[in-house]
Amino acid sequence: MMMDKLAPLTLLAQQIFKDLRAMSPDGAGVSRPAYSSVETQALDYLAAFARAQGLAVDADAARNLWFSLPEHRAAERFMVVGSHVDTVPEGGNFDGLAGVVAGLLVLIRGREKGLRLPVKCLALRGEESAWFGSCYLGSKALTGQMTAAELAAPHKGDDRSLADHMAALGIDRAPIAAGQPLIALERILGYVELHIEQGPLLVERDIPAAVVTGIRGNIRYRSVTCTGEGGHSGAVPRAYRHDPVLAMADLLTRLDDSWLHILQTGGDLVLTSGVVGTDPARHAIARIADSISFSLDIRSQNTEVLDHMRDYLHEEMADIARVRGVRFDTGPEIPAAPALMDDTMVAGLMAAMGRTGIAPFSMASGAGHDAAVFAQAGVPAAMVFVRNRNGSHNPREAMEISDFMVGTAIISAYLEAADT
Ligand SMILES: [Zn+2]
Repeated sequence: MMMDKLAPLTLLAQQIFKDLRAMSPDGAGVSRPAYSSVETQALDYLAAFARAQGLAVDADAARNLWFSLPEHRAAERFMVVGSHVDTVPEGGNFDGLAGVVAGLLVLIRGREKGLRLPVKCLALRGEESAWFGSCYLGSKALTGQMTAAELAAPHKGDDRSLADHMAALGIDRAPIAAGQPLIALERILGYVELHIEQGPLLVERDIPAAVVTGIRGNIRYRSVTCTGEGGHSGAVPRAYRHDPVLAMADLLTRLDDSWLHILQTGGDLVLTSGVVGTDPARHAIARIADSISFSLDIRSQNTEVLDHMRDYLHEEMADIARVRGVRFDTGPEIPAAPALMDDTMVAGLMAAMGRTGIAPFSMASGAGHDAAVFAQAGVPAAMVFVRNRNGSHNPREAMEISDFMVGTAIISAYLEAADT
């Protein structure tokens, strides 16, 4: 659609990406640590850029930045288009920043087209967990969802707490610690976030962008232990074995079968056991292991599917324990609820995608995003993914500017249609 009209905006977007990459180099990639001076410099750059474009710039009490058309600065209710400016160490330049640049372009285009619906672009701090161990810090502070443990969490580099780092930026922690939203949340009509896709789906399907239907929640177990009985690998006949490794393999195979079944019946699920090991102090090629530990990470955008998988996991562990004479212990479960995107916003974005000349396409988000924090705070939220190669959180992430402009055009078309 109208790519000719978008050309000046494309150049602006390229300039921002280029300048911010140059401001935060780290090895082959970039680093913009959460609540650091580099993050502040990135925000200062964006503020100067926005002012030069005639936009109003405001900071909230957590030092996230808000951009708007001057006539919408004091709007009582408004839509928000935003994302985060921080990155992981030696990360890519587009994870987060793309969503902020999209918001700025929506405003600049809106200024030219006379956008009547009040829209604000939000540049959030501290989304990545790489620095303080927990994620979505800027949006949690803003929406009153930050915990005492998060404020006390030490920075991985200097061991000073998040509260200390916030204090160094002049942020008053009292309302954040009290769990007070820093803005009346009912003023936000909806939150839209453009983000690079972090998986391979859009590249494989040759689609430039997609509307996100939900952000997967998960149930996680850091270390499930299966305990059996050690023995000589040559001497113990099968019938006498209580091999925890085979028990784990049996369990994972059953979970995998269930996964396939859920997919074939239209459900959403991903399942990973990324850390697996027998005790290196006791294991040997010629020895049946005593025990094995493994992580389990089960994700779905549907709470019922997660509940089903939890039940299924425990049933199958009980069955395998009985059949093989082993014992499973999952340890504590670490849950995170799925965040469904707002149906009306998803439908509006799908229609807008159609109007940009691309067959509407939707997908689930496997990774978490600030949009989930807004959804959990009761703010209607939605996301647009942009095709991206090589995943994210690494310097090789690769988003084509033309795909980014398609994603931005979808959001613009959506907001212009919602402009009544
Ligand atoms: Zn991100």
